[in-house]
Amino acid sequence: MTTDWTDGANEQAQEQHLSLAKSLTSPPAQIWRSRISWRIALTVFLTILTVQIGILTLTIQQQENNMLFEIRESGRMAIAPLIESNMQDMLQNPIDGGEAERLLNSTLVEGVAVYSSNLDLISAFGDPVGLMPKTYDDLFLSNRTADGNAYEVIYRRTDLDQPYVVAARLSAGNVADEIINYVRDSVTIVLLMSLFVTTVLMISLGRWLLEPILFLRQNLLNAAESPEEPQIKDSPFDEKDEIGGAIALAQVLINQNAENIKHVKSAAEDKIHKLAFYDSLTGLPNRTLFLQKLSEMAKKAGHEKTTRLAVITMDLDHFKDINDSMGHNVGDAILRGISKRLRASMPESAVVARSGEDEFAITMPLNTDINTARHVAEKVRNVLISEPFKVFNEQFQIRTSIGVATYPEDSIDPGQVLKNADIALNRAKEEGRDRIKEYSEDFDKAVQARFQMLRDLRDALDNDELLLHYQPQFDLKTGRLIGAEALLRWFRKDNSKAGGQFVSPAEFVPIAEQSGLIVPIGSWVIRQACETASAWQKAGHDIRIAVNVSGAQFYQGDLVELTQNILSDTGLKPKNLEMEVTESIFMEDVHHTIDTLKELHGLGIELAIDDFGTGYSSLSYLRQFPIDRLKIDQSFIRNALNDANDASIAKTIVNLGHSLNLKVIAEGVETKDHEDFLREEGCDEVQGFRYSRPIPSEEFDSFLNGYTGDLSSFDK
Ligand code: C2E
Ligand code: MG
Ligand code: MG
Repeated sequence: MTTDWTDGANEQAQEQHLSLAKSLTSPPAQIWRSRISWRIALTVFLTILTVQIGILTLTIQQQENNMLFEIRESGRMAIAPLIESNMQDMLQNPIDGGEAERLLNSTLVEGVAVYSSNLDLISAFGDPVGLMPKTYDDLFLSNRTADGNAYEVIYRRTDLDQPYVVAARLSAGNVADEIINYVRDSVTIVLLMSLFVTTVLMISLGRWLLEPILFLRQNLLNAAESPEEPQIKDSPFDEKDEIGGAIALAQVLINQNAENIKHVKSAAEDKIHKLAFYDSLTGLPNRTLFLQKLSEMAKKAGHEKTTRLAVITMDLDHFKDINDSMGHNVGDAILRGISKRLRASMPESAVVARSGEDEFAITMPLNTDINTARHVAEKVRNVLISEPFKVFNEQFQIRTSIGVATYPEDSIDPGQVLKNADIALNRAKEEGRDRIKEYSEDFDKAVQARFQMLRDLRDALDNDELLLHYQPQFDLKTGRLIGAEALLRWFRKDNSKAGGQFVSPAEFVPIAEQSGLIVPIGSWVIRQACETASAWQKAGHDIRIAVNVSGAQFYQGDLVELTQNILSDTGLKPKNLEMEVTESIFMEDVHHTIDTLKELHGLGIELAIDDFGTGYSSLSYLRQFPIDRLKIDQSFIRNALNDANDASIAKTIVNLGHSLNLKVIAEGVETKDHEDFLREEGCDEVQGFRYSRPIPSEEFDSFLNGYTGDLSSFDK
């Protein structure tokens, strides 16, 4: 959740970034929108303005002075010609009254005061002049009136070329206006100039700064949009320029980045490919790749018409046991060893794959040397069993079941050929493992028939069409009837005259086990068997009922709780319930199995190992199990009288059982000879056709009531 959110936020931020970048990427129109250009231009504009205003401030004074100087000059030029000196009387007024009048009316002179060289006032006209020279120093004074309308100056003898000093009041009212005009004009010029400079600057910035930056940005944007295949343009900018150089560098980095991404991606793709198509333990192709290669080879073979392909699938027998008992390290080492041996023994043209945990698949074109798929399978088998595998100084003899199919004989669809090899492999396993089985079309039909049987079996369970038969068991020494084994029966309905027929549990139990249907069926069996046994108990027969329990029930159902409930529901004494398990239940999770067995035993029920002697050496575990009874497999009894090997196996089992403090029961006792043999060997209990076939419950009741307690009553 958190990462999703962060990723979303990142994406959003990135998108915003890109859209902002896009909005700035089409020069030159964008120049006027560029913030950086505006900032520079504004700074320049303000700088120019400040400098110009500084200059203006300085020149205003100058300007004013010039104007005042001009006023003073025009005053001088108006006054000077009117002064006529009178050499006899230097104190006589040198300006004629009429002239003075005209002077005041027609010039800018508003008032005049005439002084002698000794600064004695001689005469005055017009407005009084405030500036009065008293000493010679005063001759250099000038003064603007407070309102600024008049300018008072002193003209000295040298100004007038006459031996007089004149103080004049001159009109200066327009000076202020003119200064204002001057300032306004100057400011306008300054503004225009600043604007011009700014515009030129903006255009230059746009050309030399913004355009390359936008170009760079566009390239980066394109690279960000598709980093792997960046659509970047070649730079038209000089690489020697700072920005041109940056653009060139960015281009190099973008291309490097694209290369890196491609590299990383292809490495990741390689890795994914490896993970998806190869087995990491052995490095061999997996089933998916095997099928791909098989299809390619089949296609090629199809073109060549003459080529045939052998397709071999194999499954290691009881490999789980090795894993469970010796640990996965050993299991893994053996698998690696097998892979190496297989690969080394097969020609280059063969594909050797690990198609499952302990499964391998091989395909190769057949040739004149090896011209049948069976031949390939035999080779594979020899390679594996000829020599044991050595791991951590221990030797492991591997056995394997192999399924064989041939392309195109078994199917022109390579996938189907592989499936057919698998079907053959299953056959090999069903027939007791450690063998090669070639695919035959009949297998297919058998598979279909099994599916049909499974559907029918499910219906039978739902419709209450299953039943139990009971086969008595006896104490060999006393002849007492000690119990019965409950055996499942299914009268499978069909369209025949009889309306159906009994199907052997040997046929349907394995199917029910493979599909998991054995779990509900098994529960039904336990309940049914306990109800029957509880009825015997109520009728005064303190005898045991033995129920067959499959491995699947240990893993899928809550067997212990179920058993406990059934016992309390039926009121059967726990000691009168026995569960028969085969050694195969130890092939799964041994610890779980042992725990469950202990819990079951804890309920007070008895436990027996069925078909003992046929399973895969679990002797090492035997001591750990809370077992009460070993049940010698009937095959040993059947052959005991004519096969010394089987006789000695039967004997050994009896001895083994007794040495472990277990009871030993023999099943498949068909004749008196069998019984005698077993008695001689010290076997404790017997069960078999000699005494009774498995029979329905009512028949069993009469058998029970009719039995004399003497085994010799079965002699005929
Ligand atoms: P099993 O548990 O070893 O049962 C003994 C089988 O030997 C029975 O076959 C029985 O009819 C047969 N048998 C008994 N005495 C003789 C004899 O003297 N000679 C010969 N030739 N056969 C004898 P059945 O009833 O066909 O059962 C076959 C197998 O099906 C059983 O072998 C057991 O593994 C399985 N099975 C039967 N009922 C159940 C069940 O309720 N649950 C489970 N999981 N498996 C069951
Ligand atoms: Mg049994
Ligand atoms: Mg058996």
